[in-house]
Amino acid sequence: MSTAPVIGLDAVTKRFEAVTAVDHVSVDLVEGEFFALLGPSGCGKTTLLRVIAGFEEPDEGKVLLDGRDITQLRPNRRPVNLMFQSYALFPHMTVYNNIAYGLEMENCSKSEIEGRVDEMLAMTQLDALAHRKPDQLSGGQRQRVALARALVKRPRVLLLDEPLGALDKKLRGQMQLELKKLQHDLGITFVVVTHDQEEALVMADRIALMKDGRIEQLGAPEQLYERPGSRFVADFIGVSNFFEGRATGDGVETEAGDVFRGEGGAETGASCAIAVRPERISLSAPDRLEDQNSVSGQISDIAYHGQDINIHVLAAGSKNAVLARISAADDKSRSFSIGQTVWCNWRPEHGRILTN
Ligand code: ADP
Ligand code: MG
Repeated sequence: MSTAPVIGLDAVTKRFEAVTAVDHVSVDLVEGEFFALLGPSGCGKTTLLRVIAGFEEPDEGKVLLDGRDITQLRPNRRPVNLMFQSYALFPHMTVYNNIAYGLEMENCSKSEIEGRVDEMLAMTQLDALAHRKPDQLSGGQRQRVALARALVKRPRVLLLDEPLGALDKKLRGQMQLELKKLQHDLGITFVVVTHDQEEALVMADRIALMKDGRIEQLGAPEQLYERPGSRFVADFIGVSNFFEGRATGDGVETEAGDVFRGEGGAETGASCAIAVRPERISLSAPDRLEDQNSVSGQISDIAYHGQDINIHVLAAGSKNAVLARISAADDKSRSFSIGQTVWCNWRPEHGRILTN
């Protein structure tokens, strides 16, 4: 993967009357990367995708292709393909003809069309289904036809709006890996819109987490997960425990008077929170663990999730129960019971101090 930007967005803003759907977004999409636009419904993901594709003209800012301003370039002149949320396959055409359609419109030769369609059929594992019609396919297969149809034109960038939204959970998991492999094999830049944080974490090289038309944080999945820059990020990506309080310099003093050390900084006295991932919390009884942040409380709930056990602890001074996630394979996990008093412990480097 090179680091040359293929598409650049420079302070792009798009308004619909009173709504600012995209608000001064600047980002470079790198050649060959798998990029996820993640965020809650209504945060501007689809609008941003449509701006990149050329279906929406930004009110402010520029869209660049290889550094060249293409803000005014029509969609069909851009080396960019948008795969719609509904796959919009032609129902009366076979899989083969659905895929070939775009090339026929471009007046490619018959032999070139055959070669390229066959290649896409093989890549998306549709060879055996080439002569079926869309209504003779499963949801996952229709999804692959839509992909093949978008990719056969060899765009530099493929934009996918909630591509797996219509599939059930198990199939979605499988298609996530297929999409990722396909992207890797082809080396085409993929931009995938999703509201599913887990999906973004699994598939993407980089994630832009959006909120209210802006990019709240941009980075590799592990960066967003391990070093969230705000409560919104810590909450939207995965699950976090928040301990509210005031900054002391290298930590936070809670209203209950506990002092927790953590990573990141805040001005002394500023209102802030420490965010801790549930899997970073270990439970101990009767003693706390040495050299860790600790808070004690009573176990209020134990929930089995197969591979993990979620243990909720009602600690003094914490608004919500503290959530600790323990591997079910850990023998200690069976030693806890509801009503028991335990310590929740975590190492200082696993607490993120967040001010906003
Ligand atoms: P997302 O894809 O993240 O759910 P959208 O980009 O679809 O969000 O929408 C962002 C905001 O812009 C929403 O408030 C939505 O209602 C508004 N919006 C999107 N498209 C239009 C439109 N064509 N006309 C008016 N408002 C729109
Ligand atoms: Mg959308």
